[in-house]
Amino acid sequence: MAIAAPGQLNLNESPSWGSRSVDCFEKLEQIGEGTYGQVYMAKEIKTGEIVALKKIRMDNEREGFPITAIREIKILKKLHHENVIKLKEIVTSPGPEKDEQGRPDGNKYKGGIYMVFEYMDHDLTGLADRPGMRFSVPQIKCYMRQLLTGLHYCHVNQVLHRDIKGSNLLIDNEGNLKLADFGLARSFSNDHNANLTNRVITLWYRPPELLLGTTKYGPAVDMWSVGCIFAELLHGKPIFPGKDEPEQLNKIFELCGAPDEVNWPGVSKIPWYNNFKPTRPMKRRLREVFRHFDRHALELLERMLTLDPSQVSLYLT
Ligand code: ADP
Ligand code: MG
Repeated sequence: MAIAAPGQLNLNESPSWGSRSVDCFEKLEQIGEGTYGQVYMAKEIKTGEIVALKKIRMDNEREGFPITAIREIKILKKLHHENVIKLKEIVTSPGPEKDEQGRPDGNKYKGGIYMVFEYMDHDLTGLADRPGMRFSVPQIKCYMRQLLTGLHYCHVNQVLHRDIKGSNLLIDNEGNLKLADFGLARSFSNDHNANLTNRVITLWYRPPELLLGTTKYGPAVDMWSVGCIFAELLHGKPIFPGKDEPEQLNKIFELCGAPDEVNWPGVSKIPWYNNFKPTRPMKRRLREVFRHFDRHALELLERMLTLDPSQVSLYLT
């Protein structure tokens, strides 16, 4: 068995990794299409097991295998937890790809590469968008506990998810929740000295420090997204649906108050603070706007949606 050097992608760990053909699976239906992949529900022919196949999109790649997919595979391979989606193997289709009508598609000589995941029945957005759907407080508690447990596991293993949102939280019919879509995830070191891109996390779930242009950040960025999801579950709709970065910050300031050196020491040194600093005073209105929430929920939310990332209490310990 080949052993990769530390930090190197090792697809040879188990004999089946990357060596089986996608023909071992029968595609049943397409279940999702996202930023760079198509996702199918499929059945493993030999065992009858239902899985999800996520196709790695290669059409825009001039430089070979996409770096985002390499990151996603590398990170998922080291994470093993009941609240993190399990990557079972990688499969390939060596020959020409056929489209639905059986014609070879445009990508024909490149072949296809798929990640094989355990199958989950729903994602949180899909569940929440059902007509008349409103989650009960015990249900929300149950999802939040699992979300925080999975995220805590990622963070202690030095992985930032960087795209926590409803469509990346998968739920099965037993109520188990798993973090998925590690396409924007990356490893971090605890010293917070590395420069990371601030252009991550879907706008509505993006924390103020990223919107203000910081390039030094840590696990608190994911906790902000968790706070947004928590509030959204209780409120019944997204709480910060901004259409662009300035509007996003404004929505945050309207609810959480405007940042200043008192509530967020050091904020004035963040690159774009002066461009976005509100011209009128804005005070924190979280307790007032969400006064109808359960008292304990409101207390937790206060601690999650904190402007100063160094004051965010992680995992509520
Ligand atoms: P993208 O990077 O394209 O957003 P995702 O991994 O988030 O890729 O997958 C897109 C969608 O496909 C998800 O929002 C979800 O609805 C569905 N999906 C992804 N993985 C699974 C899975 N293991 N089981 C069931 N559905 C899945
Ligand atoms: Mg996704």
